[in-house]
Amino acid sequence: MIHRGWEERPDSEADVVILVTCSIREKAEQKVASEIGRYDAVWKRTGSPSVALIGCMAQRIGADMAKKFRCVKLVSGPRHLGLVPQGIEDALNDGRARFFMDEDPMALEDLNVVPTERLSPVKAYITITYGCDRFCSYCIVPYVRGRLQSRRHEDILDEARALALGGVLEITLLGQNVDAYGKDRRDGYGFAALLRDVSSVPGIRRLRFATSHPRDFDKDILDVMASSPSICRAINLPVQSGSDRILREMNRGYSAEEYLSLAASIRSILPGVSLTTDLIVGFPGETEEDFRDSVALLREVKFDIVHTAAYSPREGTRAALMPNQLDARTKAGRLNEVNRIQSAIARELNEAYVGREIEILVDGYAPKGEGLLQGRTATDKVVIINGAPEDIGRLMNVRITRAGNWSLEGERVGTGA
Ligand code: SF4
Repeated sequence: MIHRGWEERPDSEADVVILVTCSIREKAEQKVASEIGRYDAVWKRTGSPSVALIGCMAQRIGADMAKKFRCVKLVSGPRHLGLVPQGIEDALNDGRARFFMDEDPMALEDLNVVPTERLSPVKAYITITYGCDRFCSYCIVPYVRGRLQSRRHEDILDEARALALGGVLEITLLGQNVDAYGKDRRDGYGFAALLRDVSSVPGIRRLRFATSHPRDFDKDILDVMASSPSICRAINLPVQSGSDRILREMNRGYSAEEYLSLAASIRSILPGVSLTTDLIVGFPGETEEDFRDSVALLREVKFDIVHTAAYSPREGTRAALMPNQLDARTKAGRLNEVNRIQSAIARELNEAYVGREIEILVDGYAPKGEGLLQGRTATDKVVIINGAPEDIGRLMNVRITRAGNWSLEGERVGTGA
């Protein structure tokens, strides 16, 4: 909003607080409600700050929040961001709350007019799709973010070219299921074509994407990745379970064997690729045998990273109503076990990097260790190095000297090409 003359101030001096919300996890919703309550108490005394509630939680329960808390002066679902700046100014001027919450697909085009303030001069994210058509039984996304809606590829490419001209070296394409990109537009231009075209934008040295879905990740995508060196060899391919029965209950649309066969194709076409995944343990009705199937799949694929979660029921989803919900203790025990197994696998894979020379893009300061910097390999491994502040934002060749479970250590051997 800097382009409208707004500036960031501490809460105590702000005219408006913008809360960007997500309702995928129930706890996040509770936290936002309590934050609004806190702002509302101050607003009742002093008349500010007003609150703008944005995102999928706003879409779901924003109207109720505005009724309960008078400080809420704007509610906008995720598809109406383009209307937010003017809406906030109007609401502050006349004190009337504004609501932008319907599912009008045309509103998506408003997203192209939102100027974005980017925090990194060399890395940027471009949202390419909104919503999802997959309807996994545990997930609220299709209900709160709506059906799949893909942005026009011409707009995405314009954004990528503008970013490259501004000095951005790395772009990440974002969507709930990026592989489904274009399936709603039916013009024959899908994710593989988008990857090919964005990776060809002059100046873009690294192209990433997240997140994939095993049912939509196809051979065309792999072929484009194999022929475009700037597309990073890093794929997050959520498996969620290794049990066919649980995968069916989750409505994931593939079997464990189909997943394993896809992982094997990926590894054979893209040697050295980093494969990461998401896994839920303790889904309703998950037996010990189902859980063992998940453990076996983890041991077989050997993912670089597994984002694990104990299943937690999400109101409004089919899985929340399923019988045989597991107790917290069983879920915690299973979560501990997969995390322990995965730590050993990650360490083993990371140790294979020791001694290798590899290019990293230096991101910024490392969270620990004075003066240490951190960067990422094309395979998305974090590498900690000694460096100077002017190295931030540069590509640099390093030799890996040490491996941990979650990161590597390295020393500079030259500047990246
Ligand atoms: Fe949710 Fe992902 Fe399934 Fe879509 S594919 S419904 S976003 S879990």
